[in-house]
Amino acid sequence: MIYDVIIVGGGPAGLFAAANIDKKYKTVLLEGNKRVGVKFLMTGAGQCNITNAENIKKFPSRYNNPGFVRKILYEFNNIMLMEYFEKNGLKLAVREDNKVFPADYKASTVVEFFVGEIKKRNHEIKLNEKVAEIKYIETAEMFNVKTGNNNYSARKLILAGGGKSYPATGSDGSLFSILKNIGVTVSEPRPALTSVRVEDYSFKELSGVAIKNVNITISGPDKKKIKKTGDILFTHKDISGPVILNNSRYMDKGDEIVVDFIAGDTMDFLEKKIREAASGAPKKAVKSVLEENIDLPNRLIERLIDASEFDPMKKISEVSKKEIRRFITNCKEYRFKINSFSGFESAMVTSGGVSVDEIEPKNMSWVRNKNLHFIGEMVDIDGETGGYNLQFAFSTAKKTIIGL
Ligand SMILES: Cc1cc2nc3c(=O)[nH]c(=O)nc-3n(C[C@H](O)[C@H](O)[C@H](O)COP(=O)(O)OP(=O)(O)OC[C@H]3O[C@@H](n4cnc5c(N)ncnc54)[C@H](O)[C@@H]3O)c2cc1C
Repeated sequence: MIYDVIIVGGGPAGLFAAANIDKKYKTVLLEGNKRVGVKFLMTGAGQCNITNAENIKKFPSRYNNPGFVRKILYEFNNIMLMEYFEKNGLKLAVREDNKVFPADYKASTVVEFFVGEIKKRNHEIKLNEKVAEIKYIETAEMFNVKTGNNNYSARKLILAGGGKSYPATGSDGSLFSILKNIGVTVSEPRPALTSVRVEDYSFKELSGVAIKNVNITISGPDKKKIKKTGDILFTHKDISGPVILNNSRYMDKGDEIVVDFIAGDTMDFLEKKIREAASGAPKKAVKSVLEENIDLPNRLIERLIDASEFDPMKKISEVSKKEIRRFITNCKEYRFKINSFSGFESAMVTSGGVSVDEIEPKNMSWVRNKNLHFIGEMVDIDGETGGYNLQFAFSTAKKTIIGL
């Protein structure tokens, strides 16, 4: 079967590319799964955080390689992406934190939108077509793509196979070994945006509890201290949330993460506040006084009292100054020692992939063959959480359409 364009991978990048190629180019999208967008449907916990509405100038620093992504993102930026969706009938919602979602907060709406756009152009989507071999036939200037079932040929090949994270979704990195065989340099894929397992984890009971705007300080041997702010989430086995995921790239096993759960207040202020509350109600249980005066979820307060080693039910007047100081120190400087990081099974994205040194950013083509393109997460670019990875998938996909 001969096409003008073959796209491999029916994730956000591949779907966007197929949905934007003019109908005059006979195009087929090959997807290894029995349906498209399996990972896409999981994005933003099923709500799909499409992009971020912050100023595009802030975007580049959200990725591992700001220099490479800048122009790509500027040329098809977040506002253009939002206009594209709205213009074509997909309504969006911008949340207070700048995250952009489909107005009904359903990832399935976005997947269906793309499938509809692809159908309008009469492009084909072939499911259960896992690509096993890619060859370039020099004489014919054609790519030959083999799946378990069929052979496809085209003059242009757009690869959108994703990274290796959440391999059960189909993004298993299978294209990387195929690419190495044809001479493409692939940087070793590694899990990125990972949650962090810590020694003696005692926050299991707080699974699902998130604390907003904590300060974290990452420190380790031979490492300059790194300070970051954001939301932390406790899970049943590790610590997660944007401030951990986004900064996991700076962390190593054995490093310490010091968390300030109440970044807005100083230790002295908190101590004074508790002392004043105690003098007004000396017979109250310390737990109740702390719950009323410390702006943290009760379950976390209980855990921090436990870590401070005093009886939560004893009267506040019987709690020593030292014990209160210990509690406040735990609120302001809770120490976690890093044991390990989550693997590909639960890493949100992959770092590594097709080396950007071999990609022409103006159309995401391989420097050694202008008709072979790499888009989305299979490129050695990874962004923070907040819509940046999908924006990169769409911006790179847009590039491949130019000059078709
Ligand atoms: C749980 C979770 C939530 C996320 N939420 C967000 C979010 O809200 N916002 C955000 O910006 N990012 C989010 N991300 C990251 C985002 O999902 C990815 O960056 C994005 O899906 C990458 O798109 P892609 O098209 O490049 O690759 P993928 O989405 O990985 O798609 C690749 C496709 O290629 C197919 N494929 C692979 N190999 C072959 C082959 N050999 N033959 C045929 N087909 C093949 C796969 O089956 C898959 O369908 C999230 C990730 C996870 C895991």
